[in-house]
Amino acid sequence: FNNGDAAAASLNKVPTVNFTKLFIDGHFVHSVSGKTFETIDPRTGDVIARISEGDKEDIDIAVKAARHAFDNGPWPRLPGSERGRILLKWAELIEENAEELAALDAIDAGKLYHMCRNLEVPAAANTLRYYAGAADKIHGEVLKMSRDFHAYTLLEPLGVVGHITPWNFPNTMFYIKVAPSLAAGCTMVLKPAEQTPLSALFNAHLAKLAGIPDGVINVVPGFGPTAGAALSSHMDVDKVSFTGSTQTGREIMQAAAKSNLKQVSLELGGKSPLIIFDDADIDKAAELALLGILYNKGEVCVASSRVLVQEGIYDEFEKKLVEKAKAWVVGDPFDPKVQQGPQVDKEQFEKVLSYIEHGKKEGATLLTGGKTVGNKGYFIEPTIFSNIREDMLIAQDEIFGPVMALKKFKTIEEAIKSANNTKYGLAAGIVTKNLDTANTVSRSIRAGTIWINCYFAFGDDVPFGGYKMSGFGKDHGLEALHKYLQVKSVVTPL
Ligand code: NAD
Repeated sequence: FNNGDAAAASLNKVPTVNFTKLFIDGHFVHSVSGKTFETIDPRTGDVIARISEGDKEDIDIAVKAARHAFDNGPWPRLPGSERGRILLKWAELIEENAEELAALDAIDAGKLYHMCRNLEVPAAANTLRYYAGAADKIHGEVLKMSRDFHAYTLLEPLGVVGHITPWNFPNTMFYIKVAPSLAAGCTMVLKPAEQTPLSALFNAHLAKLAGIPDGVINVVPGFGPTAGAALSSHMDVDKVSFTGSTQTGREIMQAAAKSNLKQVSLELGGKSPLIIFDDADIDKAAELALLGILYNKGEVCVASSRVLVQEGIYDEFEKKLVEKAKAWVVGDPFDPKVQQGPQVDKEQFEKVLSYIEHGKKEGATLLTGGKTVGNKGYFIEPTIFSNIREDMLIAQDEIFGPVMALKKFKTIEEAIKSANNTKYGLAAGIVTKNLDTANTVSRSIRAGTIWINCYFAFGDDVPFGGYKMSGFGKDHGLEALHKYLQVKSVVTPL
């Protein structure tokens, strides 16, 4: 892999990194401590850039700027249509800068450039457009309280929001968080993951160009236990909207409880099942199963990391799945022929490899993969285990890499029991031509999203979020807009 063509493609696309400082109150500034941290190219392990490292003091300065913009600035007071107009302008700027944004995520996170350029970056622009259209449709209700009183509700912006995002979809996560909270009239401080700060800083620059007033959006890169913890325990932040691991979600809830009882919404991990029934088209089902685990090299919270296949087609399915996995192209994410880039960093790479070793020791059968690819960077082969017992670590833990656990089942009841047998409940997929089966299974699975005969089908208007230990609070849809609003009841005598 990494042939001449790929290298040439990379050289053409690799972006210049122009924004490396914190974005606070409309300006790019150094951190108070003057400290910086390295962001790494996962294709090689080389340093891409040094980024100003935000810490507690910087978070405090950013929260003060956001508070000032909320209490005194124009943003929460603008007519919704005006906020919408600015968001629409920003969406255009995303499209004008789509190559740059895609390249930043590809180099920082090892994501496929062409997927970012053609899918994720345009989708981010549309997320802004969706909430731009909602910004002037925020209204309460008139209520007939009693004969003597009349009441109405006002929907008011919640205040200063802290957004804490993960590294697997840096652009997408930025806009999923920022767009509804801006439409609602909130101001915010966003802390991107330390592995992938580049596109968030570029997006802050676009926000300024679009006309977002100073202080409304602040972006403070830094580490979780320092900058992230400072944001979630800050006394003047009204809500933290978090996407990341279940463990960090727990810490954020504790920090919120111990500080000002700020609201929290948590989009956490998953171990999502894809259930394939005997009547499925085997070829298509195998493709769906592979896409479900290998899209974004398995670094996806909804990855179909457990594939349950009914016994009648199991053997043929397994054969096709393994053939397709062996043909999957791993390599430089800037090469259009490549289907899977490197894991995001050394830590994640080693974590995935250690799960693979664990799977072997636990007695699962390694059908394909399991090894690293190339002699530099963090590339791992598509890996499939069979003969899975449900108590195995690889059947229970979120691996967050290209590792699938494949399991045979007999009856629909057994499939449902197995699907529900984890602490997570983020998503599930069902492949069948039988409507009864699809309906029964979708109602029986405790998960926030069910995909029938598809996978990874997201929409701006479709709420997304977990059940069980996958978290609570929805992203996407009007549900996400409402999580950044609060209801005030006003009562008056008639
Ligand atoms: P992580 O929880 O370690 O980090 C996520 C973010 O939280 C980062 O910005 C990090 O700096 C910050 N953080 C870390 N410790 C913190 C603390 N003590 N206080 C405040 N902030 C802190 O997760 P990760 O390893 O970066 O991301 C992978 C995880 O995210 C996976 O478990 C995955 O399932 C989950 N994820 C979930 C979704 C979803 O929508 N549900 C989407 C993407 C990723």
